[in-house]
Amino acid sequence: MNCPHHCEIYNVKPRSYRDLPIRLAEFGTVYRYEQSGELHGLTRVRGFTQDDAHIFCRPDQVKDEFIKVIDLVLHVFNSLGFENYTAQVSLRDRENKEKYMGADHLWDRAEKEIQEAADERGLKTVVVKGEAAFYGPKLDFMVKDALGRSWQLGTIQVDYQLPERFELEYVGSDNQKHRPVMIHRAPFGSMERFVAVLIEHCAGNFPLWLSPDQIAVLPISEKFNEYAVSVLDDLKEHDIRGFVDDRDEKIGRKIRDAEVKKVPFMLIVGEKEATEGNVAVRRHGKGDQGSVTLDEFRDEFLKETAVPNLP
Ligand code: ZN
Repeated sequence: MNCPHHCEIYNVKPRSYRDLPIRLAEFGTVYRYEQSGELHGLTRVRGFTQDDAHIFCRPDQVKDEFIKVIDLVLHVFNSLGFENYTAQVSLRDRENKEKYMGADHLWDRAEKEIQEAADERGLKTVVVKGEAAFYGPKLDFMVKDALGRSWQLGTIQVDYQLPERFELEYVGSDNQKHRPVMIHRAPFGSMERFVAVLIEHCAGNFPLWLSPDQIAVLPISEKFNEYAVSVLDDLKEHDIRGFVDDRDEKIGRKIRDAEVKKVPFMLIVGEKEATEGNVAVRRHGKGDQGSVTLDEFRDEFLKETAVPNLP
């Protein structure tokens, strides 16, 4: 795991309340020795990549930091078209307080603030008592794939234990030493599992911005290969990915092949298009979209793939 290393980085020098929050992020490779019978595709593997980060903050900053992480998780889910998710708030079992680490009042406060943060962002939440980690309460995101199976992906966890174990401190405004709170967060969880669930979820129809090939330029005959290449070159200038299908095949065949490959846009070019500087647009699964100038197509495309701002 990456957590202890980030604690050591925090500890390299004295910290003041004014330095907090300190946020350390890392795409780190981690290992777990799963039994061979439990290995499964990309969803359960022995070595995987966590989009890990640890936020060291004061107790009064937990809620704000939580809201920011929720926004980040939702940004990831929205960008990838995951609409069907639920958030599970995992609290401690109050009848068995000795099972958990950290002071009572800190737990009460963190549990309340996680719930408030989730409510403020309008999350559908399920509250489960007794599901907290022994080191702190957490918020887990469950996503359904195309087959209706539920997967835990993102997670945000409050931790009182590691700051204690690693003797993390900061000097407060009262000049006294205090323990920071640590938040573990991983919007994707494991990158490998996330990619597996994403492929299942969209059944190979990736969001436009993520498709390996976003466009296929299909000349209706060899005569228009040159124009097709000029169309592709123009789009490449704007970081649009694609290829020209210049095989000696009928246009119907080229369209069928591009459909099978789930290329989002097919740009068909012939005599008329080459003369007028146009492209005839076909959208995967939606058919003919009509003929537009290359400029119009490019503008629309770039609008659709523009990165939305974080809230
Ligand atoms: Zn961690």
